[in-house]
Amino acid sequence: KSGFVSIIGRPNVGKSTFLNRVIGQKIAIMSDKPQTTRNKIQGVYTTDDAQIIFIDTPGIHKPKHKLGDFMMKVAQNALKEVDLILFMINAEEGFGRGDAFIIERLKEVSTPVFLVVNKIDQVHPDELLPLIDHYKSLYPFAEIVPISALQGNNVETLIEQIKKYL
Ligand code: GDP
Ligand code: MG
Repeated sequence: KSGFVSIIGRPNVGKSTFLNRVIGQKIAIMSDKPQTTRNKIQGVYTTDDAQIIFIDTPGIHKPKHKLGDFMMKVAQNALKEVDLILFMINAEEGFGRGDAFIIERLKEVSTPVFLVVNKIDQVHPDELLPLIDHYKSLYPFAEIVPISALQGNNVETLIEQIKKYL
């Protein structure tokens, strides 16, 4: 099995942290500053039974000017060409306008989308369910997977789920 997976989500939700953990080397730029990942950086996860080509897609955010508009088109096209989209959110921050904008973009493509709820190490389990229910009411996610990219919780489960969609 082999396929392309795009990771999208607001700045600082943990996309680079996840990629670094899965690929096992520093392939994405790590920073607390928003939007330091300027290019599509690909990392390839390879095992005996699967090859997952990850794309760290920047540019899916509310455009502020013309270039932003163009960059968004580029990102939008990237989403159409992948086999699976991981929409990563920060369990700690909850729903925001940035997420609403991304969900609108997701409705324009037919690629299956996972909701990846990251940073679960930062929240009480009781807070997780209402948050997930809210996102579920906005978009028909193919799978919903809570993880901690930093600590590694449930990351293997997510990989197994991804393989089913390749
Ligand atoms: P990106 O902008 O989406 O690529 O986010 P980064 O991967 O750069 O992560 C932003 C910040 O969140 C960094 O300080 C990470 O260490 C932190 N972070 C990422 N994943 C987790 C997690 O699962 N738990 C916690 N507590 N922090 C995380
Ligand atoms: Mg990043």
